[in-house]
Amino acid sequence: MMDMDTDTYRFIARAFLEYYNYITTKKRYTEVRDLDKRELAFTYFMSHGMVRHLKINNFSKIIDYMKRDVINNLYMSAAIYRYPDADSMGSKYRLGTDFVIDIDVDHIDTPCKKEHDWWQCTKCGVKGKGMPPAKCPKCGGESFKTFKWICDKCLNVAKNEILTLFDSFFNKFAIDNRDIEIHFSGQRGYHVLVMSDEFRGLDQLGRSELVDYLLRTDTETSLKLLVRDLENNIDNMKYIRNKYRLRKDSVLKIIENKDDILQIVRKRPKRFAYLVNKILDFTEILINIHLDIPVSIDVHRLIRMKHSLHGKTGMVVYNIGVSKYELNKFDPFSDAIPSVFIAKPDVPIRILQDIPKIRILDKVYGPYSANMKDKVSYPAAVFLIAKGVAKIEKKGIIS
Ligand SMILES: [Zn+2]
Ligand SMILES: [Zn+2]
Repeated sequence: MMDMDTDTYRFIARAFLEYYNYITTKKRYTEVRDLDKRELAFTYFMSHGMVRHLKINNFSKIIDYMKRDVINNLYMSAAIYRYPDADSMGSKYRLGTDFVIDIDVDHIDTPCKKEHDWWQCTKCGVKGKGMPPAKCPKCGGESFKTFKWICDKCLNVAKNEILTLFDSFFNKFAIDNRDIEIHFSGQRGYHVLVMSDEFRGLDQLGRSELVDYLLRTDTETSLKLLVRDLENNIDNMKYIRNKYRLRKDSVLKIIENKDDILQIVRKRPKRFAYLVNKILDFTEILINIHLDIPVSIDVHRLIRMKHSLHGKTGMVVYNIGVSKYELNKFDPFSDAIPSVFIAKPDVPIRILQDIPKIRILDKVYGPYSANMKDKVSYPAAVFLIAKGVAKIEKKGIIS
């Protein structure tokens, strides 16, 4: 449930409803595979708790649930059931479950977090930047209030992890692209769904073995990925070191010899085999994909439905397409902004707390401090209000 004044609620609920009306009446969606066999669940802006154990057979029917209040988060089961709307898990009769990979920047210590995230110990009040520590450095407390933001840098890191999967997973397992979907989650990361019968049939043990496999990749693939990552993240050594569990001097050596390594990996001439082995001697290359393990293993998980809006951003759970090209091209702060928001007039808002800057489409907003007023584009207003860091400033601006 969102805590907001009437004008702010009316603005955000109207924006979300308009989006759903637009995509359902104009058919700007692709149907969810086996939608009528999935449990549907959602939350409303103004009521507590989750409405669940429902089913629909067509995405456009979602509008039927928005007559009294507007849905702010929409989920579906990764599982396929015979009776998805049965009101207990035991009586749904599970037929299979999509294999889901969830890569979320929450789990990745990106350098930009020092610029836009902070924590505060709930016991002694000490504050720090970036991700919260395991224990408070002052009092040893383990509970923190946190503020999390997103930026191009951290979403790119998450995207890079998904790119890794093309070589280490999709190609290796020869998964048909038509059985894969890659979604931007609408806020902090990406979801991959594998929907073939083979993967749907995996039990929890099979899923956990697959996760183990995904966390370790063979040497040749690892080298290729390492070189690509080095090219893309040459200024982000900490990320490389964490991902590949490399010592600092190893990274330096690799960077020094990057061109040679690239040559070797691309051509793999036998006479360079000794050099490849040398590299392997001083590097323990172990891929460390930051996937959220429970999401991949749990067969009853609810995940965000594609085309829905994320309640904390107003951004679309965007179905990207299954190619490196489409993934590379994808820009969340532009492609996942609903087009129906774009041509609308600017919106006067008041900022509720100090916040870092944010780019929406081609404009950067902020940083702002609490109580500042601004007039921002409609999608920026939706983002900041959904985030809970702004409210509508003037009464009567909405017709
Ligand atoms: Zn403390
Ligand atoms: Zn960031």
